[in-house]
Amino acid sequence: MELQDVARRFPGRTVGAPPFTAVRNLSFDVRRSEFVSIVGPSGCGKSTLLNLVAGLDRPSEGRVALNGVEVSGPNSSVGFMLQKDLLLPWRTVLHNVEFGLEARKMSGSERRQRAMRELERCRLTEFADRYPYQISGGQRQRAALARTLAIDPDVVLLDEPFSALDAQTKLVLQKSFAGTIASSGLTTLLITHDLSEAVAMSDRILVMSDRPGRIVEEIEVGLPDRDNPIARVATPRAGEIVKHLFHSLHIDTREDA
Ligand code: ADP
Ligand code: MG
Repeated sequence: MELQDVARRFPGRTVGAPPFTAVRNLSFDVRRSEFVSIVGPSGCGKSTLLNLVAGLDRPSEGRVALNGVEVSGPNSSVGFMLQKDLLLPWRTVLHNVEFGLEARKMSGSERRQRAMRELERCRLTEFADRYPYQISGGQRQRAALARTLAIDPDVVLLDEPFSALDAQTKLVLQKSFAGTIASSGLTTLLITHDLSEAVAMSDRILVMSDRPGRIVEEIEVGLPDRDNPIARVATPRAGEIVKHLFHSLHIDTREDA
């Protein structure tokens, strides 16, 4: 994944207002199978950036490319997952996972097989026939991941997928996602507000500036065992990086602050 000098401007909000620049001079790349997190102040253009990579939006300037090919629209090699699970309430978990495959030329039994394989990978086999309201928030996010992975993407884009969950469910899910993603060799871009999560999950962290967003810092996490975020976050190295990120994002850590 490669972004070169990307800018995205939106029309001004009122007639005659100047255009509004969400991101500018945005450049970075992500290697194959690498897990990169992006942190940055709210409103700095993180979701805008993911939409550009997903091909749901086009840059005003610059270039976005995947596997050396410029992104010009939605692409089946990209899986996209948001904070809201967007599961269809009238479909079972299995039928939700099958949903993304319905546009493909694929027999019903092949579709079913593929969906069941993803449910197994996301440890949801026993919930296949339940409806979204019958499972927990964490299970719903796992179902959303299964649906994302069912299309067999090379790249997954995760926009704050854990931020609506309670602290304990979040830890369990981080571990579950990390294991699934590491074992499938996916190239991953995670947007998160949670600095510990960024350290726990990724190979590299990119820090974005205030709007218009661009990358102002890059940190190599340098911790082993990406499939075990809980063990990673307990290391002194993780603590140092989180402290450093607080500083980079101008979050005051003094006791009297
Ligand atoms: P983040 O995800 O970092 O919180 P966003 O990428 O959602 O930020 O938004 C960045 C800025 O761009 C915000 O000020 C937002 O209001 C604005 N923005 C996002 N999408 C649009 C759009 N389609 N039209 C106009 N403004 C937008
Ligand atoms: Mg956002």
